[in-house]
Amino acid sequence: AVRVRFAPSPTGFLHLGGLRTALYNYIFAKKHRGSFILRLEDTDQARLVPGAAENIEDMLEWAGIPPDESPRRGGPAGPYRQSQRLELYAQAAEALLRTGAAYPCFCSPQRLELLKKEALRNHQTPRYDNRCRNLSQKQVAQRLATDPKPAIRFRLEVEAPAFQDLVYGWNRHEVASVEGDPVILKSDGFPTYHLACVVDDHHMGISHVLRGSEWLTSTSKHLLLYQALGWQPPHFAHLPLLLNRDGSKLSKRQGDIFLEHFAAAGFLPDALVDIITNCGSGFAENQMGRTLPELTAQFDLARITCHSALLDLQKLPEFNRLHLRRLVSSETQRPQLVGKLQALVEETFGTQLQNRDVLDPAYVERIILLRQGHICRLQELVAPAYSYLWTRPAVGRAQLSAVSEKVDEISKRVLGLLERSDTDVTQAVLNGELKKLSEGLEGTKHSTVMKLLRVALSGQLQGPPVAEMMVCLGPKEVRGRIQKVLS
Ligand code: GLU
Repeated sequence: AVRVRFAPSPTGFLHLGGLRTALYNYIFAKKHRGSFILRLEDTDQARLVPGAAENIEDMLEWAGIPPDESPRRGGPAGPYRQSQRLELYAQAAEALLRTGAAYPCFCSPQRLELLKKEALRNHQTPRYDNRCRNLSQKQVAQRLATDPKPAIRFRLEVEAPAFQDLVYGWNRHEVASVEGDPVILKSDGFPTYHLACVVDDHHMGISHVLRGSEWLTSTSKHLLLYQALGWQPPHFAHLPLLLNRDGSKLSKRQGDIFLEHFAAAGFLPDALVDIITNCGSGFAENQMGRTLPELTAQFDLARITCHSALLDLQKLPEFNRLHLRRLVSSETQRPQLVGKLQALVEETFGTQLQNRDVLDPAYVERIILLRQGHICRLQELVAPAYSYLWTRPAVGRAQLSAVSEKVDEISKRVLGLLERSDTDVTQAVLNGELKKLSEGLEGTKHSTVMKLLRVALSGQLQGPPVAEMMVCLGPKEVRGRIQKVLS
């Protein structure tokens, strides 16, 4: 059975790069009716960020890709936090010590620091000199007497095996000569990434490891660990980097790459899923507007290429507009949008809402249907330009008289027009009728009529076209606002 995992470290909130890795895992799992697992790699306790673990799982759910097994949901292979699995790593380290594949290291932090400094001074990559590798049993026993909790290092003696990455093809990385023997278990009992990752992927029955290409060179080390532990390794597929459109690193240039930011700004999860899969490979061909079921149907691991995925976030509003329209046209989804806009209106205008009728679902739905083609996000509908939709302006007679002396006459004619016109009158038809109305007014310019109406309806001198405002407000509300002017 296919079992894949997304294994972030809770050292930060979920960002677009993480979402991309999670997405490919989720889609691959669904494609093969397998399981998608969330595992939190929280062994670097010093770097933990409060709230990150919750945020990661919240955001996966928000994005529509909830894990099948996770810290929150539990599951047969739990616990799903590495800090709660220390026993398993200790057992594996013990097994490696027994066969001699691992050894205790008594080097002091000071000595290791010196090694590092010296290497850097000579412009070399810091490398452990494997000093403790050849201690005799007697020496080890002596050292243990004064230092009972040494770190454990993995002996990188054998040549790293070549492996076939499902994206990058054949690979082999010379690990032994580069860094020296790596620590797999620290003296505080916490594992390092390599051991924890191998032990968990094994015990959790992971069939395929889909992760960022920055881990490609670690894979040789992992394979050596599998070999030493006598375990069958999973398949590996490394995903090319996700970069900004100009090729720069995502986290460096883009301040706001966290999912939370996009959610708060009113972007739809479907739009983010769509833009991220569109810039990467793995699907039939790139096209806008796909949703998870379509993406899953089109996905094929063999289609993933090694090319970096270039993300152009400037296109996100367009993706959002597309998905917003899709949701609006769905009878089952639209009520949710209505609910969201109601909440936004309450949140934005709060006590200014003298007229609670504007929260009526039928009115809110009408506004969405009328404006959907002109906005990318629902949030735009509560911007100042649209406040006339939700609050009645306080307009004084003096303000109107300043525009024209014929306030009463113009208003009466507009009321007459409203009597005659359809409830569902379109903007174009209304515009024609308003033009005719102005023509019938001797000595008054059309622009003056429109300005007067604009002020009466919104209290503003600028904003959306007058006919648009009238269509959105509907004849009853327009009549109300104009009558108020006359009284
Ligand atoms: N904890 C690693 C990360 O944060 C996981 C790497 C892996 O998937 O093996 O990216």
